[in-house]
Amino acid sequence: MTTLPIAVVGASAAGITAAEALRRAGWDGPLTLIGDEPHLPYDRPPLSKQLLHGAWEPAKLLLRTEEQLAPLDLDLRLGTRATGLDVATRTLTLDGGERLACAGVIIATGVAARTLPAADGLAGVFTLRTLDDALALRDRLSEGARRLVVVGNGVLGCEAAAVARELGHEVTLVGREPVPMAVAVGAGIGELLAEEHRARGVRLVTGEVAEFETVADGSAARVGGVRLADGSLHPADLVLLAIGSEPAVGWLADPALDTADGLGCDAYCAAAPGIYAAGDVARWEHPGHGRPLRFEHRMNATEQAMAAARNLVAELTAEGVVATAEGTEPQERRPFAPVPYFWSDQYGLKLQAYGLTSGADEVETTVLDGEARRAVALYGRDGLAVGVLACALPPRQIRALRAVVATPVPWEEARDRVRAATATG
Ligand SMILES: Cc1cc2nc3c(=O)[nH]c(=O)nc-3n(C[C@H](O)[C@H](O)[C@H](O)COP(=O)(O)OP(=O)(O)OC[C@H]3O[C@@H](n4cnc5c(N)ncnc54)[C@H](O)[C@@H]3O)c2cc1C
Repeated sequence: MTTLPIAVVGASAAGITAAEALRRAGWDGPLTLIGDEPHLPYDRPPLSKQLLHGAWEPAKLLLRTEEQLAPLDLDLRLGTRATGLDVATRTLTLDGGERLACAGVIIATGVAARTLPAADGLAGVFTLRTLDDALALRDRLSEGARRLVVVGNGVLGCEAAAVARELGHEVTLVGREPVPMAVAVGAGIGELLAEEHRARGVRLVTGEVAEFETVADGSAARVGGVRLADGSLHPADLVLLAIGSEPAVGWLADPALDTADGLGCDAYCAAAPGIYAAGDVARWEHPGHGRPLRFEHRMNATEQAMAAARNLVAELTAEGVVATAEGTEPQERRPFAPVPYFWSDQYGLKLQAYGLTSGADEVETTVLDGEARRAVALYGRDGLAVGVLACALPPRQIRALRAVVATPVPWEEARDRVRAATATG
């Protein structure tokens, strides 16, 4: 038995879930949760929805209260950054130089917002990844009517554009792709969303940012507009960069780890012996899809954290580090094989997707009611249906659609089942 801790790095959705799951799986040794943000773990999806809108305040985003955390008996290190990991000895280095030898480590450091070098230090340019980012943007939006240019027409850019428009701001949504969210969900659903954004008064523009126009603001420079590569200028009081993210793996330099796109893991979410990963940062071999996948989806953060924690405890039990309770069978490690899920809210529309919607070689979009934007899309790869998306459909139909892609099925069979599931109501 050991008195070394298990450390979870990253104190957000995946991190807090992993800590709880470690306790449930039987880890009663020291447990350290390390997060570089100063806040207690909070939920990110409302940042671009209810929080930006002003409907919710930060307290409502807390994933756990202090009272809920207490029974976990955590060594909670907020405002603390992990700066290195020695894989062979499972030893973390923290900022300030402290070295923490661990029985096991779960890495849940997520992703960071991508930025543009030209925006460095320029007032009025925002990203939207953290609570502090969202509050800063909300503050500026609350100062009165603003011209907002959102750069990036993926999920995040579309959600923020919708909220800003609902708040009465003038919104221009700029994307490299002519159709919003096309990369994530295909052109059919993307077009439907484009129609909704246009109907609500959002200006949709295709192009690439060449430079930011600046205006003098006292001694500093403030953004005054966005110039695109085609020479067009889009005046702006505020700019939101929603141009994707980078997995937070910069601190992992040990050559034993594969950090090419997030942290590479096997089907058990293990990156190396005793080192597991979960959430947005983790790229793992999904046994059902037979290829490495990495998702930036809220549900995956929870499910993968539970799987990683359970598998780490099973590994430590096999190593003899954790004792098996008398009369019980030791846990076995299990591959992590979820049905991926994500949602997005824009205006009153809810999009919900199961399985894989990006990287499809076949997409069939059926608009059930153009005015209400009710639609369903089926996504295929190599003759198999691998994903399905519902826009503005009732829960009963969504449950039936999930069942269609719970495991990859032949395309024709899935098509029939989608038609049957959406035939009425
Ligand atoms: C604005 C917004 C809206 C979203 N909306 C949706 C949605 O509608 N539907 C959906 O499915 N998903 C949505 N998501 C995605 C979802 O929030 C993420 O999938 C989820 O937060 C991932 O959780 P995580 O714990 O893996 O990573 P994160 O939430 O990114 O947490 C990682 C934590 O680790 C910290 N960290 C990083 N490096 C270190 C280090 N070296 N040392 C210590 N700490 C470190 C980070 O600061 C952060 O606190 C949204 C995300 C954002 C930003």
